[in-house]
Amino acid sequence: MILDDPARGASFTEARRARLQDKIASEKLDALIVTEMVNIRYLTGFTGTAAIFLLTPRDSWFLTDFRYAQQAQEQVIGPEISQYKEALDTLAEVLLKLGLKNVGFEAESVSAAKADQMGKKLKNCTLKPTVKLVESVRVVKDEAELEAIRALVGMLEAALPEAMSLISPGTVERDVAIELEYRLRKLGAQGPAFDFIVASGFRSALPHGVASGKIIEDNELVILDWGAMGWGYHSDNTRTFATGAVEKELENIYHVVLEANQAAIGCLEPGVPLEQVDRAAREIVTKAGYGEAFGHGTGHGVGLCVHEEPVVSWRSESVAQPGMVFTIEPGIYLPGKGGVRIEDMVHVTAEGTEIITDKLARSFRVLS
Ligand code: ZN
Ligand code: ZN
Repeated sequence: MILDDPARGASFTEARRARLQDKIASEKLDALIVTEMVNIRYLTGFTGTAAIFLLTPRDSWFLTDFRYAQQAQEQVIGPEISQYKEALDTLAEVLLKLGLKNVGFEAESVSAAKADQMGKKLKNCTLKPTVKLVESVRVVKDEAELEAIRALVGMLEAALPEAMSLISPGTVERDVAIELEYRLRKLGAQGPAFDFIVASGFRSALPHGVASGKIIEDNELVILDWGAMGWGYHSDNTRTFATGAVEKELENIYHVVLEANQAAIGCLEPGVPLEQVDRAAREIVTKAGYGEAFGHGTGHGVGLCVHEEPVVSWRSESVAQPGMVFTIEPGIYLPGKGGVRIEDMVHVTAEGTEIITDKLARSFRVLS
């Protein structure tokens, strides 16, 4: 795994910084102060919890405190490393020394109080709020990231037989979640990607029905939405199963959701607006008469965050680009009756689409 080895990871972090540096230059900034830890990890490989990263269009400085000095030496290859007692004082010194004036900061990661403090301490430069600069670079995944994501999906494949045997009448939803978390950790995950959704029967109509104390009964639909976390990355997948014969309408909505999932994946290729991908799924659900029961977007990016750019919905302004990884997860939820969601992770390639979760079968399956 590339991400286990800082020396191998260094060429990737360097290329990411170069892509960001082009953006900084085109935004006419002298530098960008990166404070969002996930973004710092992305740009440097640093996995600690305290640091500030400064990039100019040509160079970069990594600032951290005493606790992480050694870790930074091991993980951060390329940028100049400094140790601080007071982060903003050290940052002010670096900015002054380099004569940087027009300096961007990550508005979404800085609280109003922190921004106020930055304004006071960094008074020699003009601070410019920026939004999603690093995130816009993160939407295109590199091979090091794809390797981790594929491995995290592989853990779900390995655990699927156990998931299917656990989802059976008499089992408590929460026990399914706990057992699967344990299984994924045994398979090498650092932890669950999020609180698993195990939603059976009437609870399957809750799009976010986190596993509860409810006992799974016969003849119910059960939504399992799960994922593994590791190397800072995530996988995210949903399958819906039946525990015996379910009402005709519930079986019918399964086929509608599956068709919507396939239509959205089928229209994906570089250059396709993601709003159009959402529409492909939504049209099928709407034609079947369930438009109102599909209230959420079709998908979201997955990477260092479980939910990140790009958004796949009617509001989406992004266009599919090679390297993007996102979910396709249409659903239909009928209050009081039940619901279905089928979620896959896809990777847009130059040729079309890699369905990363393709080995997790999507056909309607009755577990007994
Ligand atoms: Zn999910
Ligand atoms: Zn998702």
